[in-house]
Amino acid sequence: MTTNIPVSVDVAIVGAGPAGLALACALRQSCVNVVVLDAALEPSSYSRATLIHSQTLEVLDTIDVTRDILGEGVPISAFSAWSRSSYLTQPEFSQMDAKYRMSIGLPQSSTERILASRLHRLGGETIRGATVTGMNDCGDIVELEVTGNAGTKTAISARYVVAADGLHSSLRRMLRIPFEGSEYSASMLAVDCRLSISGKFSLSPHEASICFGADGFVLFLPMTPGTWRVQALLEDAPKHASLEQVQEIVDERAPTGVTVEEVTWSNRFQIHHRHARHYRKGRVFLIGDAAHTLSPAGGQGMNTGIQDAIKLAYVLSAAIIDGEDSEVDLDRYEQCRRPVAKSVMAMTHRLTIVGQWKSAWARCARNWFIGLFMQISGVEPKMTRKFAAFDHAQ
Ligand SMILES: Cc1cc2nc3c(=O)[nH]c(=O)nc-3n(C[C@H](O)[C@H](O)[C@H](O)COP(=O)(O)OP(=O)(O)OC[C@H]3O[C@@H](n4cnc5c(N)ncnc54)[C@H](O)[C@@H]3O)c2cc1C
Repeated sequence: MTTNIPVSVDVAIVGAGPAGLALACALRQSCVNVVVLDAALEPSSYSRATLIHSQTLEVLDTIDVTRDILGEGVPISAFSAWSRSSYLTQPEFSQMDAKYRMSIGLPQSSTERILASRLHRLGGETIRGATVTGMNDCGDIVELEVTGNAGTKTAISARYVVAADGLHSSLRRMLRIPFEGSEYSASMLAVDCRLSISGKFSLSPHEASICFGADGFVLFLPMTPGTWRVQALLEDAPKHASLEQVQEIVDERAPTGVTVEEVTWSNRFQIHHRHARHYRKGRVFLIGDAAHTLSPAGGQGMNTGIQDAIKLAYVLSAAIIDGEDSEVDLDRYEQCRRPVAKSVMAMTHRLTIVGQWKSAWARCARNWFIGLFMQISGVEPKMTRKFAAFDHAQ
């Protein structure tokens, strides 16, 4: 931790993940005085999220980072669903009425780097090796206790504090805000790899695909030119998977013609669906995974967190710059964003549960239903917009 930690700021943001960084950029752009604190000494080099959806690209335009994301990422034109080699449906982002008619595949570490570099250009920085270990809301300010790596303790006072400290948020615990929901019994294996794809009926490098097999689903997400993120829910996922293990999952669940050429990274994640009962207590707000943790099916968690950040930036800028700081004003953030997360969470939870159905009868009914349901007039455009992160309750 550097010694030039400020004594007092308008907004202290705890956590330099995508939600915290997006918020810091938006506040700096409105000339709000912010500090970002993160326990980790270095930005993470591995990636959980890879998908950035159309609405998030629009939202990120407001802090001027979308151009860089488009420049580095892989355009994804559709989200297709398969049952082994049978094609079920393919909602096309390119048909949407939206500014960006695509999703983007980009490692989360690159998204965070782009956000951090924008923050730097706006005059902000992240203080690393700075763990928030105590918090006291005094009514007119909040005092934070920050512990450095060597155990030194520093105090910061802030008019507002934002917990962007992820799934295991210590600030949420300090506030005693219940985090309702549960952990899935299966865990998610995430693998970065090179694939070769052959045959007429197989995956497209321009589509994100969910493939349902007898043992569950596997997701294929184009990530950088030539590399893919493969994600599968497994009852007993290995901590790290070998090429042979990944090929076995692909052979069981995916269309034919997909060969794993090389595994560059893999990890196992315990996944949850949990929702904080409140997004604000006094002068402290929750955003991102600290407020809601979703199943990664559908790739929505980071997207929802970035959208929280930009909404909260409006509310906090109005409070700090224009004096709109009544209880009603500050409550606008939770009123707007909690129903959105609830709706996204319901969608990702349903996808996770039906994707794991094992009985032949249930799988057959699911596949038949998806095919038929998407053909009903108006359903496909509606579902496409939901996958693209639009039209959840606002
Ligand atoms: C396998 C997998 C795949 C996923 N794929 C997608 C996807 O494609 N699209 C998508 O939208 N989402 C996806 N997600 C979800 C996404 O990764 C998360 O929603 C996102 O990282 C949450 O961002 P955040 O900024 O809220 O928190 P985090 O990224 O968790 O960042 C929290 C930060 O807070 C810091 N911190 C914690 N405690 C303290 C403390 N006390 N003091 C100081 N700092 C602290 C941590 O060091 C960390 O840097 C996926 C998740 C998984 C597991």
